[in-house]
Amino acid sequence: MDPLPAHAEIQTQSSPTCPSEDCALLVDIVLQSSDGVIFGAHMKNLAEFSEAFPRKDSVVVDEDVPILEESADVLKLMLQFMHHAPHPSLRNVPFTLLSSLAEAVEKYTIFSAIELCKVHMSFRAQEHPIDVLVYALRHNYPEIANETAALSLSPNHTEFMSKAIAAGLRDSDKLRWFCYRNIWDNARRAGLKRRPSHPKKTGQAKPSKCELWEPFIDNVLHAVARENGCEVDEFVAIINKDALAMKSCSSCMSGVYTWEMEVVGGFDTGIPLFCDVEI
Ligand SMILES: [Zn+2]
Ligand SMILES: [Zn+2]
Repeated sequence: MDPLPAHAEIQTQSSPTCPSEDCALLVDIVLQSSDGVIFGAHMKNLAEFSEAFPRKDSVVVDEDVPILEESADVLKLMLQFMHHAPHPSLRNVPFTLLSSLAEAVEKYTIFSAIELCKVHMSFRAQEHPIDVLVYALRHNYPEIANETAALSLSPNHTEFMSKAIAAGLRDSDKLRWFCYRNIWDNARRAGLKRRPSHPKKTGQAKPSKCELWEPFIDNVLHAVARENGCEVDEFVAIINKDALAMKSCSSCMSGVYTWEMEVVGGFDTGIPLFCDVEI
């Protein structure tokens, strides 16, 4: 840990309190968040739980109190993680706070929180795929990147690019995202070109004839052609709209489901893991 300026160490009776519940340790350093909230902390804990806290390059010393780049809600959680006490739950923490905390604990190498933040960031991938992918790539967590990448794909690259640039991702990671998106697009197009046949009924050798199936497939393929290949969301909307008319045939319904899964899933056998995509 970088040594703090000597005047940052304070031992007064009026020291602000430590944010860890029921903490009886002596407050011997005061830290201020970027939004002006002052917390008491303990030099020994900072040294013990963090490899680099507070970092000299992220601290502004103003009137003897180091001001950190982190906001109060992030700093409070960070300090709570630097105690031999039950750690705060991250289950119901808003995503923006979780994401800022995950960045802060990486920056200061707070091992007691890094792994937990990884798990919770991964849990939130469904809702915030681009943020989670960018986090995983930035900190080199390929498993999380591989799990999340397919969720992050969108026809519009603006959100991914702006977040990737803000996070300082390598050009190779940005390029890999575009290559990966192309692989998915091609697989989906291939799925849309196939004309699926009416599924076999249980126990039958051949696909059964069904008057509902062919008109349905024609309608969907025409709609797809009108949309010029259409994105996967549009395909799902088209298929769901027309599938209602076939409710009376369970074979049709299962065939629709299979086709939808093939197209949405991009025949995923042929799709490499994100981190294995060659660029
Ligand atoms: Zn404490
Ligand atoms: Zn049918």
